[in-house]
Amino acid sequence: MQHLLGLTTNELQNLAKEMGQPAYRGAQIATWIYQRQAQSFEAMTDLPKAFREKLAESATVGYPTIAHKDMATDETVKYLFDLPGGQRVESVYLPYAERVSVCLSSQVGCAAGCRFCATAQGGFARNLTAGEIVGQLLFMQSESNRRISHAVYMGMGEPLWNYANVIKSLNLLHNEVGMSLRNLTVSTVGVVPGILALAEENLPITLALSLHAPDDDLRSDLIPTGRKWKIDEILTACAEYAAKTGRDLTFEYLLIGGVNDSPEQAQQLAARLRAKRLQGNVNLIPFNYVDTKEGFRRPERESVARFREELEKAGRTTTQRMTRGSAISAACGQLRRTIALSDVRQNTAGKV
Ligand code: SAH
Repeated sequence: MQHLLGLTTNELQNLAKEMGQPAYRGAQIATWIYQRQAQSFEAMTDLPKAFREKLAESATVGYPTIAHKDMATDETVKYLFDLPGGQRVESVYLPYAERVSVCLSSQVGCAAGCRFCATAQGGFARNLTAGEIVGQLLFMQSESNRRISHAVYMGMGEPLWNYANVIKSLNLLHNEVGMSLRNLTVSTVGVVPGILALAEENLPITLALSLHAPDDDLRSDLIPTGRKWKIDEILTACAEYAAKTGRDLTFEYLLIGGVNDSPEQAQQLAARLRAKRLQGNVNLIPFNYVDTKEGFRRPERESVARFREELEKAGRTTTQRMTRGSAISAACGQLRRTIALSDVRQNTAGKV
């Protein structure tokens, strides 16, 4: 079976021609998939019935199937999708007053091994295809009466380790779905070759770096991948990215109580960014509780405020990520983990 979700209009036109149809039939299919969220060929009512039947014999639209869905009181919706092969990824729908954003996964699991992250607990399984990445957004769009305008690649996985599929998905979201590239944010753990390659793509997306610590000892303790690329090397790549693209990056900084949230660490962070002449916002993310053996805790309100104050004193624009949907485990990998654990419990209960 060929999955059509993930193909461009051009590729769909070629497919139509190969099946003895005029090219414009392929463009019609693209409109159905990417703009009208058709989940079956049957729904594509302006295609000849015989062609729809023929398509159904050899291809699928490739829509994701939903395994679980949770809605929080703030209207954040967390989705868990089933993939072929029994794997699962999650996505989050985040409606705000002035825009609707979604958080997408780029891999099943992740190899970065960050000690604070739920996704890391399960290790890495595989890359998502471009269609599987875009499919998460299209499914959420099909369930919403508001237009999804923004997407962040901050779900499961490291986007720059799935480089080709992520680039293809960004192009599909722009060219086929009609989203503005400026509204798409790719978040990276700091994969230096990926940052440098992305600088050459000429895509005006937003790049976010998960920095999380101002010195290499602490960073490589929290993020084992940090041993591979030192902060200096990562920030040099970021400076090159900013120079080539003319776009500022966003620096994400996860605050963990008593670990990386002191005023001195804030000063050190500001100094490091200044030393590389990096503009750009620092986005503070209070640690979302994950049930791991690490014993990490959320930072105190006052230390978050103090941290922010120090950054602002140093001339750094700072935002603070609102914690949304925490009651529904709306952080990286948490839903999949919660469900997986309860599946295990149910299975065990079944066996006993
Ligand atoms: N691999 C990419 C994108 C996925 S994670 C990256 O590292 O940027 C998206 C963001 O969520 C990252 O900044 C990550 O560090 C953060 N994150 C992971 N676990 C978290 C937790 N328990 N609480 C808050 N943020 C978390």
